[in-house]
Amino acid sequence: MNQITFLGTGGARILVFKQLLASGGMWVEMGSTRLHIDPGPGALVQAVKRKLEPAKLDAILLSHAHLDHTADINSMIEAMTNGGFHPRGEVIGPRQAFEEDPVVLHYLRGYMNGIAHWEEGGTQEIGEVKIHTPVRHQHPTETYGMIFERAGTRWAYIADTNYFPELAEHYQAPTIVINTVLLEPREEIAHLSIPEAKRLIEEIKPETAILTHFGMTVLKAHPWEIAQRLSDETGVNVIAARDGMRFEIP
Ligand SMILES: [Zn+2]
Repeated sequence: MNQITFLGTGGARILVFKQLLASGGMWVEMGSTRLHIDPGPGALVQAVKRKLEPAKLDAILLSHAHLDHTADINSMIEAMTNGGFHPRGEVIGPRQAFEEDPVVLHYLRGYMNGIAHWEEGGTQEIGEVKIHTPVRHQHPTETYGMIFERAGTRWAYIADTNYFPELAEHYQAPTIVINTVLLEPREEIAHLSIPEAKRLIEEIKPETAILTHFGMTVLKAHPWEIAQRLSDETGVNVIAARDGMRFEIP
């Protein structure tokens, strides 16, 4: 079984901190391996509400150290390790998330089996899953997207970034998840917009593209209608994620 559960589909400051959409990141199960990606505000509550068991997590992954991706990291570490009584799991993120402006409390760091840092072009292995971070993103803090591989399954998570032409070649996969904060590109905001997501979909040509991490302008324009339009225009199955949605990765 390979499955993504969306514990939140909200992105960026205004929408997340009004909690107009949940912001718990993505819970991923690939075979026997369980991963939690980007535990934003409310991640622990959302996981428990969806009957997921943090004490069975193998790793928590951070794309970058902005609060809408990390606010619940310490709560999730407590939950994963039973308050430190059962040390387990790893936390992997950009070096900046642990050093410069650290988001993981020092007293919790001994609770996990390890902490690791992403490298551009690097690979980490957790259980049955290989996780590649092909390229550093263009975002105000050190940021990586991820490609996940297990047996014959491969999918890509394109985390927060400005659009840049090399993105498509780095994230070739049959299933892609794209953080799409903006309805239209805004030069001063380092996030992908709907036209840029469309361009990526046309360049990567996946079987399925899932849009998530919506900002206010996308929510007001109805993500599900945008996804339908992009499906019609690109011929790719484009889905707007919804809070709590479960997606079977082919
Ligand atoms: Zn960000």
